[in-house]
Amino acid sequence: MTNPLYDALVAPLATRSTPVLTDAAGRDLSGTDLHGMAMALASALVGLGLQPGDRMAVQIDKSPRALALYLAAVAAGVVFLPLNTAYTAEEVDYFVGNSGAALLVGAPARADSLRQVAARHGAQFQTMDAQGDGALADLAGTAPAGFAPVDRGPDDLAAILYTSGTTGRSKGAMLSQHNLLSNAQVLVREWRFAETDVLLHMLPIFHTHGLFVATNVVLLSGGSMIFLPGFKADQAIDWLPKSTTMMGVPTFYTRLLDDPRFTRDLVGHMRLFTSGSAPLLAETHVQFEQRTGHRILERYGMTETNMNTSNPYDGDRRAGTVGPALPGVEVKITDPATGATLPQGEPGMIEVRGPNVFKGYWQMPEKTREELREDGFFITGDIGVIDTDGYVSIVARQKDLIITGGYNVYPKEIELILDEQPGVLESAVVGVPHPDFGEAVVGVLVAQPGQTIDLEAVKAAMGQSLAKFKQPKHIAILPELPRNTMGKVQKNLLRKDLAGLFA
Ligand code: AMP
Repeated sequence: MTNPLYDALVAPLATRSTPVLTDAAGRDLSGTDLHGMAMALASALVGLGLQPGDRMAVQIDKSPRALALYLAAVAAGVVFLPLNTAYTAEEVDYFVGNSGAALLVGAPARADSLRQVAARHGAQFQTMDAQGDGALADLAGTAPAGFAPVDRGPDDLAAILYTSGTTGRSKGAMLSQHNLLSNAQVLVREWRFAETDVLLHMLPIFHTHGLFVATNVVLLSGGSMIFLPGFKADQAIDWLPKSTTMMGVPTFYTRLLDDPRFTRDLVGHMRLFTSGSAPLLAETHVQFEQRTGHRILERYGMTETNMNTSNPYDGDRRAGTVGPALPGVEVKITDPATGATLPQGEPGMIEVRGPNVFKGYWQMPEKTREELREDGFFITGDIGVIDTDGYVSIVARQKDLIITGGYNVYPKEIELILDEQPGVLESAVVGVPHPDFGEAVVGVLVAQPGQTIDLEAVKAAMGQSLAKFKQPKHIAILPELPRNTMGKVQKNLLRKDLAGLFA
């Protein structure tokens, strides 16, 4: 019998008496305990009639048992389909229907609406609460012991992760056992994860960052984690002294830097801080180093591809870049219109190929053909540039590219200048419909706490630094930028709010 992902991530837990995770209350869970929890859940899934290849949609709070449910799915060959806990029942309806899930697991507090969703699509429904308790745990408690993991091959699906779908319907990225395992192996090696590591885990586990990057790396390396329900600066400060590594989205780092208790002494012992899922401002990178002496290691990945590039563990971690391609991953820059490879140094579409790249979108062959080339290159939708020594910088999401009067404008170029203006904390630049230009460049600024922004001075500075067509036709000041749980600025919301500006 083989099940490569089970063998690598789950099997070693069975004989591990040391803690694999510590929860927010400081309770340790040993490897054996987590293994037992996962096997009991796997047994319960089989008891419910789930077969290998069936999809299980889960919309549950982060808890040790929620993690065990992912491991149970691996053991039972069930395709794990985690959903953002913020989705409404109507949104969950789409995912359950689209995936043809056989089982939906959701919070007891929303059981009424979610049970109806499940019933509408012929799926079963079970509950799990923020403590991991509920109907599914009850079933696991009485399920037959001694679960034997099912046979799986490297190409069998381990998970379907839906993209966040800011430009249309969300698509289910099919991730195979080999996609996940090969990426975890590379990251363990590249980032030097070992049994001695304690990862401060504050990311959600419905997204690739917290679920696969963080958890798979810890499990594969035999390390352990401090497993908190989410990010809170207070908790991070309490737990950092007991951690060796932390993975975060950029907002974790900016919030820590805002806190005077976040000092060099607090994190002097730390081995590694990584950042991803959204761009880390070069300024944050620099401030972080000044405060702590550590250089954040920024990497780049996405739901469909796991991790693609990473700044080096040893060597130059360059602010504002996401580093070179990971071993085994190819990255190239192409002309978005023709697909032809562009000369070195020119910005264009980032395409990636490697064992990390997904198998396609669930039941969307056309979308798959549009984005995944026959030769295996995935068209990421990110516009980037590669410098002479292979470091990749991301300039924009293609959908955020602004075309004004026929000229292409990359928002990042303007944001970098806006960010430098006195009193500006951060900025976002979007394209807004304009009767003459098609789109007009619009800047949105957030002021630094306690400071005011001199808009006339900002406009004058733009006039000095930028060609006329790149200069914002309007600059607005907002109290904060809209962000999703992964810290990404939701430019689609800004575009919507500003849509009538030039109408
Ligand atoms: P998701 O599928 O939710 O993980 O989102 C993937 C997208 O996040 C990528 O296509 C990038 O646009 C963005 N992203 C991830 N990591 C970075 C990074 N280090 N810097 C800039 N953008 C990033």
